[in-house]
Amino acid sequence: MSQSVPIHPSVDRGLQAADPKFAGGRLLCHCRSEPVTVQVSAQCAHNHVCGCTKCWKPAGALFSQVAVVPRDQLKVVANESKLSVVDPKAPIQRHACKGCGVHMVGRIENKAHPFYGLDFIHVELSPEKGWAAPEFAAFVSSIIESGADPGGMSAVRKRLGELGLTPYDCLSPALMDAIATHTARASGALKA
Ligand SMILES: [Zn+2]
Ligand SMILES: [Zn+2]
Repeated sequence: MSQSVPIHPSVDRGLQAADPKFAGGRLLCHCRSEPVTVQVSAQCAHNHVCGCTKCWKPAGALFSQVAVVPRDQLKVVANESKLSVVDPKAPIQRHACKGCGVHMVGRIENKAHPFYGLDFIHVELSPEKGWAAPEFAAFVSSIIESGADPGGMSAVRKRLGELGLTPYDCLSPALMDAIATHTARASGALKA
């Protein structure tokens, strides 16, 4: 396997299998003192790498790694006052640490949003091992918007394929179907 294309530090050496008994852990920001600490009391779902320009990425990574957990399973337990919302107008409100810039929680406040009730998290911020591994790659073409060379895209997609992270230029089919189902129920095209 080639390692010439760095996708994200959590996947570049291969994926770590989830611990079937894993039930959550802490997320810590990068501040050396008084880190923002989030307690998650569930395994994550839909973990994936994301190429969009909004998700927080570690330095040098082409992709972020992002997953969801039910919002009632997540609690900020230390230094919450360091958090501020990056863009209050965005559908996902990303709460970032003012000290180090790391995004700790992405929360949706619009109850009509298809993913309302789920918080977005970056499990690499957790010292605990056993989180579910990424399953696919979302918004792959969008890495160009962050400055990635368009000519390198076939190498990026090939590397994602080697890692078992099927590349999509939106979300995965399962999540796109979930969004469309939500929209169709809201419009009445589908009866609940
Ligand atoms: Zn911080
Ligand atoms: Zn993203």
